[in-house]
Amino acid sequence: MKELEDSRILITGITGFVGSHLAKKLLDTGSEVYGIIRRRADWSNPQNLIDKGIYDDVSLLEGDLVDISSIARALDVSQPEIVFHLGAQSFVPQSFLNPLETMQINCIGTLNLLEAIRIKNLDPIVVFAGSSEEYGLVISSERQLEEIKNSGKAVFPEPERIPELPIKESNPLRPMSPYAVSKVYGDFLFRNYHHSYGLRTIVSRAFNHEGAGRGKMFVTANVALQVMQIKFGEVDRIRVGNVNAFRDWSHVNDIVNGYCLLAIKGKYGEVYNQGSMRTNSVISYILLALEVAGYKIKRIETFNGDKKIEAPTQISDSKFFGIKFEKTIVDEILLKDEIRFDPQDKGIFVITDAGKIPIEFDLKRFRPAEVPILLSDTSKIQKLGFRTEHSLKDIIRDQLNYYLDAKRRG
Ligand code: GDP
Repeated sequence: MKELEDSRILITGITGFVGSHLAKKLLDTGSEVYGIIRRRADWSNPQNLIDKGIYDDVSLLEGDLVDISSIARALDVSQPEIVFHLGAQSFVPQSFLNPLETMQINCIGTLNLLEAIRIKNLDPIVVFAGSSEEYGLVISSERQLEEIKNSGKAVFPEPERIPELPIKESNPLRPMSPYAVSKVYGDFLFRNYHHSYGLRTIVSRAFNHEGAGRGKMFVTANVALQVMQIKFGEVDRIRVGNVNAFRDWSHVNDIVNGYCLLAIKGKYGEVYNQGSMRTNSVISYILLALEVAGYKIKRIETFNGDKKIEAPTQISDSKFFGIKFEKTIVDEILLKDEIRFDPQDKGIFVITDAGKIPIEFDLKRFRPAEVPILLSDTSKIQKLGFRTEHSLKDIIRDQLNYYLDAKRRG
């Protein structure tokens, strides 16, 4: 079995949110860490690496995934035993705005990496950052399936079980955005290079992962930022898109541990889910973030007063989809389909001990196609020894502290 200590490692996407956390962990294990970095127009240094104090400890090689010769050079210099391929355009709305850019980086970039390894006859273990977005449209109830069909949209493949939750690696892939399609491409290509050429590839499909340094455009970080702004009186409302969406949010460090485990123990040519086996709504995330920031929440109600929920953040660990996991009363009500917040509601008032906080729905933040719910089944990676260590509140605390620290630093 391969160990990580003293290994030579190459990370694509090292300057990103996950790449920088992974680099730190690998350096701590004594590995030699190389990373590919695009030249910046302003010659500024990568903030994520600086924040973690590892900028001088990693070897940065100039290159770009879309330029195969730069990838070949990076492989020559680093001679990696393990490659973690995390580099990508990873924001779903951006992939709708500029699908070509997403495909060039995520599809052609992935092909370039595998081709460079193949042509050069190298034999590293290569771990691919696939995504839960590949599953996309996951059918959670007969009613949902009916609604989709009534709206004239097709569901392919037809579900073989309802609910299709929790999501196993064998669930159908129904990607719902250009980003998700690009990850399906990489996922299949990685497996194809194993079958065709014997490359030692492993695919991770990580569900959402969050924490300090997460890009401000993602919902958890965006909400954490806005909650801090409310706390400091800088804004008087929170703006969001669809608050009904459910995500399986992990702490980034749990996912980073999973990547390392896969590199050591994963079976080549295989696919592994990574997640927390919890699912929580966006509205729940906002309310819990307000609570962690010190507000006591009594009630929520829509702007027009039509929909009300008392003590919405009360915690329950009731069973849904055959799994017990921590969730709020709001999550329960949404999961039972008893309430749904619509754009016509315009927003929600959060009634707290310190007054009313408005959450306003911003139509620009709603997506052309939405993934309604994600919930992982991680039994497969658990058999390799994976355990989730962090709770949802750990993630929220880290994200709030990140903005607090940034504020202190000025
Ligand atoms: P994704 O799951 O990779 O798309 O991660 P995001 O953090 O970008 O989005 C998670 C969910 O939050 C999606 O269902 C979004 O529609 C929903 N959402 C609601 N409001 C917002 C918002 O203001 N920003 C973002 N990024 N997502 C939002």
